Amino acid sequence: MNELMEVCEKVVCNTYARYPVAFERGAGCRLWDTEGKEYMDFLAGIAVCNLGHSHPEVARVVCEQARKLVHVSNLFYTRPQVELAARLIERSFADKVFFANSGAEANEAAIKLARKYSRDKYGPGRFHIITMKDSFHGRTLATLSATGQEKVHKGFDPLVEGFRFVPYNSIQAVEEAVTEKTCAVLVEPIQGEGGVRPGDPDYFRALRELCTAKDLLLIFDEVQTGMGRTGSLFAYEQLGVTPDVMTLAKALGNGLPIGAMLATEEAARAFTPGSHASTFGGTPLVTAASAKVLEIISKEDFLADVREKGRYFLGRLQDLQKKHPDKILDARGRGLMLGLELSRPGKTVVDRCLEQGFVINCTHDTVLRFVPPLIVTREEIDRLMETLDAVLKEWEE
Ligand SMILES: *Cc1c(COP(=O)(O)O)cnc(C)c1O
Repeated sequence: MNELMEVCEKVVCNTYARYPVAFERGAGCRLWDTEGKEYMDFLAGIAVCNLGHSHPEVARVVCEQARKLVHVSNLFYTRPQVELAARLIERSFADKVFFANSGAEANEAAIKLARKYSRDKYGPGRFHIITMKDSFHGRTLATLSATGQEKVHKGFDPLVEGFRFVPYNSIQAVEEAVTEKTCAVLVEPIQGEGGVRPGDPDYFRALRELCTAKDLLLIFDEVQTGMGRTGSLFAYEQLGVTPDVMTLAKALGNGLPIGAMLATEEAARAFTPGSHASTFGGTPLVTAASAKVLEIISKEDFLADVREKGRYFLGRLQDLQKKHPDKILDARGRGLMLGLELSRPGKTVVDRCLEQGFVINCTHDTVLRFVPPLIVTREEIDRLMETLDAVLKEWEE
């Protein structure tokens, strides 16, 4: 283990603060490290492995497709890509899909589409996009510029022009920020990296009305909230509004790299041959796997189970807050995207849980984030709660 860490420092770019654990194998909600120690996973590779690790049906599709055809480029048609797009459309507001390889790339496509849509219709100069403070949209130059967090911008200026940041959950702030140069609003239904902060349904309804009135594209970044995470296939379904554009990635391939931008016919018309492209976007391998993921997650009884376990989990977190009112300020979230806001930085809690065989995560410095595989059981949730309770008890002033 120490040797692996040392070599890693030498040969891999130093962009991550890693925990001193190397994982070797996973199954369902369990992970095993190189020393054979077992862990219960409440992070799912940051809301990615929604069906758990090494899901047998997904693994079977990947193996079969890998033997058949992995990649041919988008100069040709492949059936898995077309079928995945058709199924995503069937299950959402959208009419068209563009395939990419990550969340950042899906958002890049959305940003480009918004600019092109506006330019085709209104001419140059109308390219500003309103995004939210504490948002997270990715690490490419355009998406980090769209991200409302200074620490993500630092050292990379000049940033891409045209992003305006306003406080999350304030419709008034958006109304005040809209000018004749605005073409779109980009927003997460629940801010993930920003500390598991849900947006109000009223806010989204007002955003929808504003965007329709001013012909701004309403773009939902569902990279983290999508694919059953919040108890519906997409989080927007619980908000009573539909966006014009939605981006997906994280759990879409249950760990295989895939991103997707979904759009209405009217918005998608702005993309024509040559507008945008990706060598790896929508390969038969990843789209075949994603179609299987989508098939399993979109079943109504699967989603009902996520909602039920989410309510149970949130209830347990609220009980924990009552027990530790000085240490826990808030318990919140939707479905199995839950957060516990602490009165101080959460890193030591994460470290202690990891030592005891539980993988959790801390975001926005003080918010413990729980995004387990959606197949997590109540017993597993109970076991995490016992451990968290003990860790918080020993966490003295
Ligand atoms: C993770 C995330 C991204 C970036 O996805 P990558 O695949 O890392 O590029 C964008 N938006 C949201 C909301 C995310 O959670």
